[in-house]
Amino acid sequence: MRQSQLLMPTLREAPSEAEAASHILMLRAGLIRQLAAGIYTYLPLGRRVLRKLEQIVREEMDQAGAQEVLMPAMQPAELWQQSGRYEVYGPELIRLHDRHDREFTLGPTHEEVITALIRSEVSSYRQLPMTLYQIQTKFRDEQRPRYGLLRGREFLMKDAYSFDEDFDSLHRSYMSMYEAYNRIFTRCGLNYRAVEADAGSIGGEGGTHEFMALAEIGEDTIAACDACSYAANLEKAEFRVEQQADSMQAAEQGELERLHTPDIKKIEQLVEAFGIGADAFMKTLIYTADGSPVAVIVRGDHEVNEIKVKNVLGAAQFELADHVTTERVTGAPTGFAGPIGLTIPILADYAVMAMEAGIAGANEQDYHLGNVQPGVHLANVQVGDFRNAIAGDCCPRCEQGRLTFHRGIEVGHVFKLGTKYSDALNAKFLNASGVEQPFIMGCYGIGVSRLLSAVLEQHADSNGIVWPKSIAPYQVHVVPVSAKDQVQMDLALHIAARLQEAGIEVLLDDRDERPGVKFKDSDLIGIPLRIVIGKHAAEGVVELKLRNEAEAQKLGLEEAIAFALEK
Ligand code: ATP
Ligand code: MG
Repeated sequence: MRQSQLLMPTLREAPSEAEAASHILMLRAGLIRQLAAGIYTYLPLGRRVLRKLEQIVREEMDQAGAQEVLMPAMQPAELWQQSGRYEVYGPELIRLHDRHDREFTLGPTHEEVITALIRSEVSSYRQLPMTLYQIQTKFRDEQRPRYGLLRGREFLMKDAYSFDEDFDSLHRSYMSMYEAYNRIFTRCGLNYRAVEADAGSIGGEGGTHEFMALAEIGEDTIAACDACSYAANLEKAEFRVEQQADSMQAAEQGELERLHTPDIKKIEQLVEAFGIGADAFMKTLIYTADGSPVAVIVRGDHEVNEIKVKNVLGAAQFELADHVTTERVTGAPTGFAGPIGLTIPILADYAVMAMEAGIAGANEQDYHLGNVQPGVHLANVQVGDFRNAIAGDCCPRCEQGRLTFHRGIEVGHVFKLGTKYSDALNAKFLNASGVEQPFIMGCYGIGVSRLLSAVLEQHADSNGIVWPKSIAPYQVHVVPVSAKDQVQMDLALHIAARLQEAGIEVLLDDRDERPGVKFKDSDLIGIPLRIVIGKHAAEGVVELKLRNEAEAQKLGLEEAIAFALEK
């Protein structure tokens, strides 16, 4: 491809609206342009990279035995009403009407459509297991579309759905997708972790993993072991409890101290006022679980893990109590709650129980209590693991590892759905005993366009993009320093033709631009190998530089071509 003809509008300056490194690079290197918030056009370079990502995904899906289909973006609202998601999906679901005033949605995902399809097309266990996938445009009216392709409102997703006759078989389908995902992200050159995730409100039985690209801009926090492969989302992260409740100090009862703490409500304020560490305090939070108040106590330097508490209580609804409720149950404004004198159920974290004594709220405005002794004052509480993991906690899986924290971008998600959709949409098959039963389903997503951004968050330097070879828009950038110099141009054309014949994708910078401009653009668009044809062209000598290395090397024509073919 001749660069003079290519629609590749590079920008010197970072556009002010872009914050994420990947977004800035994509705009500057002329990969994408925005049409509306969260809605983008892929220019030729961006489209090429996206196609390469799609191709990797497609190859690995096919390899895993999944079959490609293509489902419509426009979906009748009735299907969504049947699954019960028409109401619960909320404003992210884009809704529209046709000329007959029938309601439709623009699909944010395709569980409904695929389940309806399989309901009418598959009737026997003999056809199972079956996994179908597509690479297709999704629509989600995100509240905060941002960071370019990382959170779009129209974006490209690979979504796959498995149908099995029982849970063992589902597990095999799930693992086959899980392994395919590992191959896909490895081939894309991504630094990622597969993390155990929380099943959350999507429902379903069994496991779910998210694939997280490690990057500072990521919205998720991941706890990962520094010794083994254990990794989990913060809300799901387990850790080995070092001090169990039974190591609790058999303390001698001391006197409670009444401490005047005017308007001092937060742990940080207490730390400052008392000049001691946050771990000397007990933090008491009032929640409501299915409408009833409960108190949760964690050490001052810890955070309550609401999912763990919610699961232990078996509550459907669990949230922080409002100020009115807190005041009613503690007799004090929010900020002064403590365990002593409370008549509601109390849950205390292991780490609190391991304290000899600490400072807690007094359930009285502007007062705290010192010398609160768990061994004495927290006799009738429910003890358990109610906190988030923190850096340095012991790995729950291996002996020696410690947890470290990272930020991550969710690029993929595998999920055991069970019968949630087959039940709702009445999708059944005849099993081996001739009995009708619902399909056991799994769903598996990869944000293909988000993946492009995630790769760029990891593969760039101060001069621009550094593409992994597997997804680079072109493999070789041939740059004659002076396009007006016929000798240089002839040699450049010759090299480009030779490489193209060998199946290598070449971009030829035939523009009549200053060398500085050409090199800056070349670095910015990040093609893995650059061949510069300059003043030694007449002797058949060119300069080669790998984008990910600092040094260039001079080689003769044939050696240069051999090098390019090899790399
Ligand atoms: P998030 O928590 O980031 O909103 P999600 O849980 O809504 O993601 P899924 O419904 O599991 O995402 O969708 C499957 C995959 O699609 C995600 O793993 C992610 O890679 C991608 N994805 C989801 N929402 C977007 C979006 N708005 N823009 C780009 N990619 C997205
Ligand atoms: Mg979402």
